[in-house]
Amino acid sequence: MLITIKNCPLCKSVGIKKIIYNQKNVYSHLIGKILGIEESTILRKLYNVECSKCSTIYKKRWINIKANKLLYNKYMPIHPACINKNSKKFSKKEFLNLLKKLMYNIKNLNVENRDKIKREIKKILNAIDTKSNFFLKTKKRFLYQLEKNKIKEIDTDGKKILKFIKNPKNYSQFAGYGNKEIWNYLIKSTNLKKNSNYAELGCPSWGMFEQSKKYGFKNYFIKYENSYFFNCIYKLNKKIKIEKFSSGKTYDFLGIYNYIDHIVDTQKFIKNIKKISKFIGIITTPYSSSHKIDCQHFMSFQKKTFSYLKKEYNLTLCNRPFKLDKTNNYFYILKNDI
Ligand SMILES: [Zn+2]
Repeated sequence: MLITIKNCPLCKSVGIKKIIYNQKNVYSHLIGKILGIEESTILRKLYNVECSKCSTIYKKRWINIKANKLLYNKYMPIHPACINKNSKKFSKKEFLNLLKKLMYNIKNLNVENRDKIKREIKKILNAIDTKSNFFLKTKKRFLYQLEKNKIKEIDTDGKKILKFIKNPKNYSQFAGYGNKEIWNYLIKSTNLKKNSNYAELGCPSWGMFEQSKKYGFKNYFIKYENSYFFNCIYKLNKKIKIEKFSSGKTYDFLGIYNYIDHIVDTQKFIKNIKKISKFIGIITTPYSSSHKIDCQHFMSFQKKTFSYLKKEYNLTLCNRPFKLDKTNNYFYILKNDI
């Protein structure tokens, strides 16, 4: 069920600079369950390497397509971040509801449900947008109590957190990537004018269609066949046209946000997207030593990978990459030569 990846998915080199391990998350748990292998073994066996030629980080060992299909169709039938963006889950009501469910599952020793609810609670907690010291102190204590399953304290501090749940933080799962600041960066970098063709590929929910529509662009969502990605909710505005990748249409801008990490044939993908857009915008989860790599991500680009893309594909960075607030993520805009 595990396959070995012989060479770099982007540059095809076999050279390796270093080995990087994975961090535990819901996917390491699920992959373990699907393959009938201990989670700790999964974390170790699905290790990542950094390519010595182009600096792409990729999984040296990966799960086969059958296990992938089970993961994305049976165990995670709909993209969780897509649900979060489309639902009203960033709310006081939902937070209280989760606290109640958590206490019930702690009492009943249902470890799987308990941990799942904890993850949901943490997502809301991490998306709270405030600089309040009182909140930060309460959050720290609350996380500790969460870890220790202290019902009474979770309840008390949880209620203190409630009043801070207002608007979700930029770039959190509940807000997505679109906001004024990042959009201004896009316009400044590309100089695109009204009526330009703007397209996105990946998850249709968390990108910048709202900003693009307001700016007067024509919007397209592109469907790309990929067995290694979630099924998303298509709650698109009627003005956004859904196009097939192979339709032959070309665009002024193509946004690929948190998606390249799920592409297995990276070289083919780059060659394909080069044919269809003048500018290409990429947000990819970078590697940082404090976070390690997520089990479900097959690959990610490093800053140095963009030098390789310039050299080999004539894809030139338009501007210094845009840092997405306090996340480690960057928005790269590449100019293509079509
Ligand atoms: Zn490489």
